[in-house]
Amino acid sequence: MQSSSGLVVVVGTGGTIAGTAARAESHVGYTAGALGADALIAAVPALQGQALQTLTLARLDSRDMDHATWMALRACLAEQLARPEVAGVVVTHGTDTLEESAYFLHRTLAAPKPVVLTAAMRPATAPSPDGPQNLLDAVTLARTPGVRGVLALLGGQVLAGAELRKLHGYRVEAFGTGDAGPLALIEDGALRCFRPWPEAPLHPADPAGTPVDSWPVVDIVTSHAGVRGATLDALVAAGAAGVVIAGTGNGSVHHALRDAAVRAQAAGVRVWRASRCLQGGVVGGAVDAPAGELPSYGSLTPVQARIELLLDLLAAA
Ligand code: ASP
Repeated sequence: MQSSSGLVVVVGTGGTIAGTAARAESHVGYTAGALGADALIAAVPALQGQALQTLTLARLDSRDMDHATWMALRACLAEQLARPEVAGVVVTHGTDTLEESAYFLHRTLAAPKPVVLTAAMRPATAPSPDGPQNLLDAVTLARTPGVRGVLALLGGQVLAGAELRKLHGYRVEAFGTGDAGPLALIEDGALRCFRPWPEAPLHPADPAGTPVDSWPVVDIVTSHAGVRGATLDALVAAGAAGVVIAGTGNGSVHHALRDAAVRAQAAGVRVWRASRCLQGGVVGGAVDAPAGELPSYGSLTPVQARIELLLDLLAAA
């Protein structure tokens, strides 16, 4: 169902793309989320006169993202996508937790039209900000007939929301998709596609049945030299219903943490493993590992695996 009017709704949630710095030359000393979505549009001459509506949902530094904002964003996007005149939606967001919001939306939102998340590594006040071009490309993508699913647009690359990962803390080229590669590129306003658009999940998870403050607690603990099993024990004592271990290499786990994981599993806590490596995931890890072994969600990053486990626990509640 593609709109003929080509109306794109831009939903602002904050981030560096909407950030302003007291010293224009600074790429780090700024306030994220200072500008609303309309101010971001106003800063891009090529967007003037286009069929756009703006909506500022939040002005967060995305390091402070929370489950309640995810649910508000999901509800807002569902409402906008249901409007027949809307071709697609662009979400401006901070880069720090972009991969988490993208994964959450991918798993919980039916998106037969494009939902394009975009962001920037440099604040809007920088001498050479990356936000305006990303926003322009994101709007172009959101208006392109036939595009669907939860996507991210950064640096001219169209990345699947389900595969997104932040790889660098400072450079403009900060994102990748592990082994998957981009779905497409936007080059001078033209789309060059490499892979099909993501299939909307047939049965998107619906976390709305449980109030956010009653969601099961799922934590992450990293395996490292000298790690203490007591860290995992403490998470269980503090009420964790699930724990993801960000394992070394191919999801390997220090024996101290493995022993604690066995104790946690015996207490009914779900313990999964992922890889703390920036690229790749866990090869050969089974979702249905026998009792006592730690299952994995394969290529998901630890933060994506946390969301998957959270949704699993919510579905079982
Ligand atoms: N801390 C910022 C945020 O995630 C970083 C950024 O957007 O690049 O909101």
